[in-house]
Amino acid sequence: MDLSVVIPCYNEEESLVELHRRVQSACKKADIKTYEIILVNDGSSDSTLSLMQDLSKKDKTLLIIDLSRNHGHQIALSAGLSQATGDYIFILDADLQDPPELLQPMLDRAKTGIDVVYGKRSVRKGETWFKLIAAKVFYKTLSYLSDIQIPENVGDFRLISKRVLDQLQDMPEQHRFIRGMIAWIGFPQEAFLYERDARYAGVTKYSFTKLIQFSMDAISSFSIRPLRISLVFALFGTLFAIFLGGSALYSYFFRDTISGWTSLAMIIAFFSSLQLICIGLIGEYIGRTYIQTKKRPLYIIRRLYKNGEKI
Ligand code: UDP
Ligand code: MG
Repeated sequence: MDLSVVIPCYNEEESLVELHRRVQSACKKADIKTYEIILVNDGSSDSTLSLMQDLSKKDKTLLIIDLSRNHGHQIALSAGLSQATGDYIFILDADLQDPPELLQPMLDRAKTGIDVVYGKRSVRKGETWFKLIAAKVFYKTLSYLSDIQIPENVGDFRLISKRVLDQLQDMPEQHRFIRGMIAWIGFPQEAFLYERDARYAGVTKYSFTKLIQFSMDAISSFSIRPLRISLVFALFGTLFAIFLGGSALYSYFFRDTISGWTSLAMIIAFFSSLQLICIGLIGEYIGRTYIQTKKRPLYIIRRLYKNGEKI
């Protein structure tokens, strides 16, 4: 199989037929012989599934995956990817915000040896200012917190090679932030600038809670820094405790203080700092255990050489 197209769909009845038409025509025009289109129904409550079934009666290239309930975008996408058999995998949203017609130009880039050609939005049409600001804050926080560089203004719209998909399948983590995981994998990756259209129909399927959940998954998947925050507080706490202790002693000897205040202030300052240090240390171990439980590969080999030759 030359190409797999993977599309997660949640309540996308209004876009589905048009989506299918445009993806089909892009695949037919592209420089490939065989392809499959994998549509994942992520527990839709509208007629998305029955529309998919109708389409698949007429179209042999379609594979429909019907999930048991709504699992969320990233899990639905993972389900689709797990069935993909193509040499290249084209990932896009069901709402036609990512133009399927970019398949050929992205494929051209991929064939020059680029493993990941990811769509980068130069313009985002039809987005609310709230979403634009939220996205900006989110990406800034993420890039500050995480150790690897995760490109900004990039969604899951991309073309990836089979070897990247194979690596992705070896990352069994539960909370999945796929664009970050692909950035983590490495291999040659390149941005492809495009203008992001407004939704073809319907409204965003990312509710506010889903968006928060998604951001938490993204940050916690790539950083244990928040767990270290108590160590930073502990540092300030300790400095403050030393200062407070000093001033309490000074007051005891040189000023009038209520009896018992000095010892009480010192005990509180000392033990609060001690507690913060201990919480920070526990956080450090929890962070390490957390990273270990993700069972990601330690490294990924790009190629081996022997006698100066690739093997
Ligand atoms: N989606 C999904 N499950 C969900 C939410 C969204 O499969 O729980 C799909 C949705 O059908 C679309 C893609 O994920 O194909 C992106 O969602 P959406 O376009 O609503 O997000 P936005 O573009 O507003 O960020
Ligand atoms: Mg969208």
